[in-house]
Amino acid sequence: MLLNDAKILLEKLKRANVGFFPTPFHKLERLSDMLGVELYIKRDDFTGVGLFGGNKIRKLQYFMADALEKGAEYVFTFGATQSNHAMQTATACRRCGLKPVLYLMSVVEPDAFPRSNLLLDRVFDAEVHIVPPDFGKMQEAAREHMARLEAEGHKCYEIPGGGAAPLGSAGYIEGYCEMAEQAMAAGFKPDYVFHATGSGGTLAGLMAGHDLIGCGAEIHSVLVGNDEPVQYVKNTAELANKALELIGAGNVKVRPEEFHIETEYYLPGYEQPNSGTDRAIKLLAVNEGILVDPVYSGKAFYGMLDSIESGKVPKGSSVLFWHTGGATSIFAEKEIIGNIY
Ligand SMILES: *Cc1c(COP(=O)(O)O)cnc(C)c1O
Repeated sequence: MLLNDAKILLEKLKRANVGFFPTPFHKLERLSDMLGVELYIKRDDFTGVGLFGGNKIRKLQYFMADALEKGAEYVFTFGATQSNHAMQTATACRRCGLKPVLYLMSVVEPDAFPRSNLLLDRVFDAEVHIVPPDFGKMQEAAREHMARLEAEGHKCYEIPGGGAAPLGSAGYIEGYCEMAEQAMAAGFKPDYVFHATGSGGTLAGLMAGHDLIGCGAEIHSVLVGNDEPVQYVKNTAELANKALELIGAGNVKVRPEEFHIETEYYLPGYEQPNSGTDRAIKLLAVNEGILVDPVYSGKAFYGMLDSIESGKVPKGSSVLFWHTGGATSIFAEKEIIGNIY
């Protein structure tokens, strides 16, 4: 499908005004020279709505519109205590006059003084419930809470963890089209796209956008946790196809064989730093003045660097790094931030 036809389909979806688009797209001159590739960056760290944007804002445009249309008063979502998604949901809710309720798992025990995203959640007066790391129990508690509020006549809206639902992924179909348009204008044809993947909502949208407009880049997705890759790809392909159906392009199908999931770079675990990521964060900061985080975008940058330096991505390639945000984690608990100072 032509880019313009894809844009016409996407325009039919209702969105709330919670960010600033298009986000910047530019070349990394010094790193391109150093690494021997043409390296561009897509700045979804600049989605807004406040100072600390990120990839979840693209999804939240649609969730917020849906919540408002359904007459919701409270918006519930889930994550880890330092969840970027939860913090961005709180931001978007306040922009739309909705009340955020966050159920957060203490994967890393929070410091007594709230740091980073947990501090921002408090600034936004989000209702925060910190629970032990058991997703099933957390969801059950949140659903009971919603049922109580509903019984009292308050309408609640639930956003899944990471915003991984077809409506959210539609935001990244649009993101992919936005990037393709900017790349074309810059005369840049990406051979490879690197990004961090967690819940898979972003990846589903990117892959759907990629297949929808038939753009040749290989999408390499750096996992940030210990998901089983075969099942992960199956679920993400399904999500991509549901997002395509949602926008009225159900004839396009994303297939599991198209995915490139990088499984080594997050180790030893989610929210646990490693020296390759420390180096990647420093390299980008020192050479380009740009910040990535130790949990998501830094691990993706590490994966991209390693792929270039090891020759898996050949010299002379055109490479796009998709910055998904998250740099607030640089101010998180010291177990999370690694050796970057
Ligand atoms: C959530 C997040 C991701 C992963 O996005 P998913 O859609 O959950 O896969 C990547 N980078 C950052 C900074 C994030 O907060």
